[in-house]
Amino acid sequence: MTELRLILGDQLNPRHSWFTEVRPDVVYLLLELHQETSYVLHHAQKILGIFAAMRDFAAQLRQAGHRVRYVKIDEVSNRPDLCANLDALITHYQADRLLWQEPDEFRLDQALRQWASQLSIPAVAVDSEHFFTQRQDAAEFFKGKQQWRMEYFYRAMRKKHAVLITADNKPAGGQWNFDADNRRVWKGQPLPAIDQRLRHDHSALWRTICDAGVTSFGEACADDFRWPLNRAEALQQLDYFIERQLPFFGDYQDAMHSGEPFLFHSLLSFGLNLKMLDPAEVVQAAAAAWHAGRVPLAAAEGFIRQILGWREYIRGIYWASMPEYVSQNSLQHQLPLPLWFWSGQTRMRCLSAVIGQSLQTAYAHHIQRLMVTGNFALLAGLDPQQLHEWYLGIYIDAFEWVELPNTLGMSQFADGGKLASKPYVSSAAYLQRMSNYCSDCSYQPKQRTGEHACPFNALYWDFFARHLERFEHNPRLAFVYKQLKQFSQTELDAIKERAGYLKQNLNTL
Ligand code: FAD
Repeated sequence: MTELRLILGDQLNPRHSWFTEVRPDVVYLLLELHQETSYVLHHAQKILGIFAAMRDFAAQLRQAGHRVRYVKIDEVSNRPDLCANLDALITHYQADRLLWQEPDEFRLDQALRQWASQLSIPAVAVDSEHFFTQRQDAAEFFKGKQQWRMEYFYRAMRKKHAVLITADNKPAGGQWNFDADNRRVWKGQPLPAIDQRLRHDHSALWRTICDAGVTSFGEACADDFRWPLNRAEALQQLDYFIERQLPFFGDYQDAMHSGEPFLFHSLLSFGLNLKMLDPAEVVQAAAAAWHAGRVPLAAAEGFIRQILGWREYIRGIYWASMPEYVSQNSLQHQLPLPLWFWSGQTRMRCLSAVIGQSLQTAYAHHIQRLMVTGNFALLAGLDPQQLHEWYLGIYIDAFEWVELPNTLGMSQFADGGKLASKPYVSSAAYLQRMSNYCSDCSYQPKQRTGEHACPFNALYWDFFARHLERFEHNPRLAFVYKQLKQFSQTELDAIKERAGYLKQNLNTL
């Protein structure tokens, strides 16, 4: 009698109830799959980080006495896809039962279900025991609503889980949201904490991955690898964040600065998405720091909202909307991604800084993703599906359940406004205010037209002129349209001409 239990690369949760007892009849399966390295072109650090963390996890399970079958990427017996590997392993072990934890990605969920429906042995999916919510909870919460506003969902989550809630069920500090306090510009002080993440040398593993024919982009940094590869390291990162960065997280959440890729962000998404960390313990740690008087309420609340609110809500959108969501393109944007998305080589300083940093570190913080790369893509009318594949590949934390609604919904308005109440776009003025990127840029942030004008400006006004019918009556855009109506026809023509030129010459910007 052998039971096989599949552990996917983003299910490295040592506290899962599976592991509470050691059973000689259970074999845990971890597989380095060619299929998972190639469904989009991934950043080198993403592939290396996941495989290194899987190897660490397998070693820990073995140490704890569990039976583990680990299939390496270069093993001769490794089949190209998940189900072919599972077939072979079922035969090998003469298994009479297979269990897997529910995958977070639709494509894997479907593949496993379809495959299992034809199996001759029982196959059962179990909870991954990670999220606050079940897949369909958000859909239930928003039943009958056309727009899904995160704020209401988040308030309900705060109450349900009694996080920053007073004894009479009110928000601590009398407010649900301290967003207005979270928009400070960073001008060199306070100093961001140093990057104290452990350094690993994974050159040998990286050579194996490359020799196995896996293709990737970005810098592997294999001999100086910085991402946490197990729960202990992820917890260390959490402690450091709470102690040193959380006090300033809220204030400088939206700030951007060249040379400071992380500022006060937590860098926890990789550890969270691989399930080394439990979102509940992360939320608890931030709430406890506030209760102990170690961080301001606005900082703790701003951070908790990201995890208890945004992360769960985004996942709810994903499960309620797949598989149709992935092909949405409500604004009919079609342009291919400019080549510099893969090199960072553009004269637009903000884009070269953010893309360059992403290629180097596999990381950009939220506002860099939303208001620099995403902003440009939406204004220029880039194909949202191509952009989705780019985001899914480049970031160390990118898994479709969280990346897709963020890209298509929040960033590109491709879902027609289910997620966002207005397009998240800005002209150069916002970028100049919130960052130092414009100071050494070859384009002029204050000019709208002319060859030296910042491309964001003409593209911004052209975007709203092009989509007038759709957005003119949106109350959140009333001010934008009031300004647009004050432009003379000559000015509008010049903007249109400049925007047209920019869109035809994206690769040369
Ligand atoms: P912090 O700024 O320190 O925030 C703390 C945590 O809150 C994060 O670790 C994350 O778990 C959670 N969080 C914050 N914002 C969001 C959000 N909008 N959605 C879900 N969780 C959130 N996040 C991913 O985890 N994977 C992705 O593939 C991903 N793709 C994105 C694509 C676009 C276009 C945009 C605009 C955002 C994307 N995000 C994604 C959300 C967010 O940018 C990252 O979670 C964050 O930058 C990770 O860095 P951090 O851990 O330092 O986060």
